[in-house]
Amino acid sequence: MTSAYPGRMWTLSPGKNIPLSARSVLSVDLGALRANWAKLNQVSGRAECAGVVKADAYGLGLEPIARALTNEGCKTFFVATIDEGRRARMVQPGATIYILDGLLPGAETNYTGFDLKPVLSSLAEIRDWAAYSRSRGRRLPAAIHIDTGMNRMGLPESEVEQLAAEPGLLDNFEVCLIVSHLACADEPGNAMNEMQRQRFEYLRAKLPPAPASLANSGGTFLGNGYHFDLVRPGIALYGGRAHETGPNLMKSVVTCAARIMQVRDVGVGASIGYGATYRVQRPSRIATIGVGYADGFLRALSVGTGEAGPVGFIGDYPVPIVGRVSMDFITVDVTDVPPEMTRRGAWVEVMGPRITVDDLTDKAGTIGYELLTRLGQRVHRVYEDGGRT
Ligand SMILES: *Cc1c(COP(=O)(O)O)cnc(C)c1O
Repeated sequence: MTSAYPGRMWTLSPGKNIPLSARSVLSVDLGALRANWAKLNQVSGRAECAGVVKADAYGLGLEPIARALTNEGCKTFFVATIDEGRRARMVQPGATIYILDGLLPGAETNYTGFDLKPVLSSLAEIRDWAAYSRSRGRRLPAAIHIDTGMNRMGLPESEVEQLAAEPGLLDNFEVCLIVSHLACADEPGNAMNEMQRQRFEYLRAKLPPAPASLANSGGTFLGNGYHFDLVRPGIALYGGRAHETGPNLMKSVVTCAARIMQVRDVGVGASIGYGATYRVQRPSRIATIGVGYADGFLRALSVGTGEAGPVGFIGDYPVPIVGRVSMDFITVDVTDVPPEMTRRGAWVEVMGPRITVDDLTDKAGTIGYELLTRLGQRVHRVYEDGGRT
């Protein structure tokens, strides 16, 4: 099998790998995920390629994603929270796991108990970790995050200088990585990238030598100068676009489909759904399918009369979304689809290789990250691993 192309899966699998009770399905192609990691690992050259699996691996399921990445050779993972770190640890006993949140006051034992490394984000956190390490009589490992322009997390220059003036502080624990984060890596032409890269070089030179990491997905594609010792891609692993412009070199990982609950014939001028924002221009057949904004299908994807909205698929037939997205349902125009393919229970692909996360979010005025991380728990997850191609 080469991809999670739904034509096969959706028509054959309910009752097999998809329960008959599932009204919507998210299929995650772990083979494509692994191929994406391998590609990023190749692009990053001599730098190590980690995997960012925060927010339940961008909504796709932390455990199966982390396992698949490990099988492909990934040894280092980044999550946001301690809870996510614990979950990652349960399935990855041998991995290096960093907590991007840094150190929550008083929570020190939560890190050591699960062999999690905090990404220390301020001098205060560094002092706490140093004190805790001293109290344990061990040089406990941690990363240090320095701010090169985001003004969100990380030590500002003044704190880097204070730290440099107190070298004894860093003797208390093991600095295994120095990290910073790019603000504009999705825009390859943005001058901020080079500015941050230079600032990173300048600031980290003030500290004792340690492995360094600057690049997220976008940064990984900015060239060797951004790779340092380790790259930290997230969105690109999951098939999302790393750069706003240019081709997306990643394979599609996610396919989402929902079942037809009901089909009806409507005459010219009839309105569809809440607000009656869509009026039918020709005698039409409208299918109501089982996915809505409660499942993460953004309400901003609603389509009014005369608007060009997102287009799903039944087999190879395009089915435009019409009317408002409601909590539990969306409506699609199936007038041009052979009736035997629009029976109650048939699957409609609403996200996948042909209607990508980025296609959808461009229309909704948001980014793939948001759509993926909002996919709700009502959507049944299936994982396929047909191997890499
Ligand atoms: C989320 C995150 C990443 C991954 O970013 P992508 O744009 O998804 O590749 C890398 N580093 C840090 C610090 C992050 O918070």
